[in-house]
Amino acid sequence: MNQQTLIKEYSFEGRGLHTGKYAHLTLKPAPAGYGIRFVRTDLGVEIPAIASKVTRTDRSTTISEGEVSVITIEHLMSAMTGLGVDNACIEIDNDEVPILDGSAERYVRAIAPDGLQEQDAERVYLEFAEPFEIRDEKTGSWVRVVPSDKMSFEVTVDFNSKVLGVQSARWSENADYVGQIAPCRTFVFFHELEFLAARGLVKGGDVDNAIVIVEHPASREQIDNMCKLFGQPHLAVTPQGYLSNIKLHFPNECGRHKLLDLIGDMRLMGGFPKAAISAYKPGHTINSLASRAALNKIKIK
Ligand SMILES: [Zn+2]
Repeated sequence: MNQQTLIKEYSFEGRGLHTGKYAHLTLKPAPAGYGIRFVRTDLGVEIPAIASKVTRTDRSTTISEGEVSVITIEHLMSAMTGLGVDNACIEIDNDEVPILDGSAERYVRAIAPDGLQEQDAERVYLEFAEPFEIRDEKTGSWVRVVPSDKMSFEVTVDFNSKVLGVQSARWSENADYVGQIAPCRTFVFFHELEFLAARGLVKGGDVDNAIVIVEHPASREQIDNMCKLFGQPHLAVTPQGYLSNIKLHFPNECGRHKLLDLIGDMRLMGGFPKAAISAYKPGHTINSLASRAALNKIKIK
């Protein structure tokens, strides 16, 4: 199959989840062989979206060129893979990609109906000679890459959470990314949110761009504090253990979001892999270690 790029430009804007900074984002068509690159238009710096540029993986994935970074690139990178975009130039005028609704839905809803531009060059799939695995002995997390004719991703998450239980999700090339994976929003545990908010983190978070999981029966006081923090006076907890402001798109939406993240982080190996990628309890740190390991294991033809 041939390489593909966007048919036209697409613009998005909004606040970043972690910094709260407001950014304008423009996705532009790019020539064959360009790959995905971010351009900080405010500073005139280009950063290729590749694992060797990853500098931070705490709660989101950051790439940097020298002192200049782009934070929280993973949902956009996931959309690029899910849609089958080989080449795109992503212009941004601040530090962090807007969180939008916490998923990749806005990107795919804008781009998918237009289709993509086929380019005059064949796609070069990333191939691996043998399977490999990255493990974190402390957390028990792992990411495994197994050579395969078809690209596929699979996750199992287990946060030791009564609300979430154990969730699994899977996506393979040609399956429905737009309808089944892209709409799945990021999530946060209520107790983490209190902790983060008290430290001035999650500045751009509001209760409309994350699923909030309420693990322990939260006290009225805690919920009142959260209502105040987010300026929404009528929050409650559903019997399933979620903050009441949003309805889940899928019973395993959180597991599917982890899959969305894995697809985005693994795109930092620089293209589309001919591999079955599976992960247990994945997170940005182990995902990025795996994409970096993959960079060194790509078969040179
Ligand atoms: Zn995410």
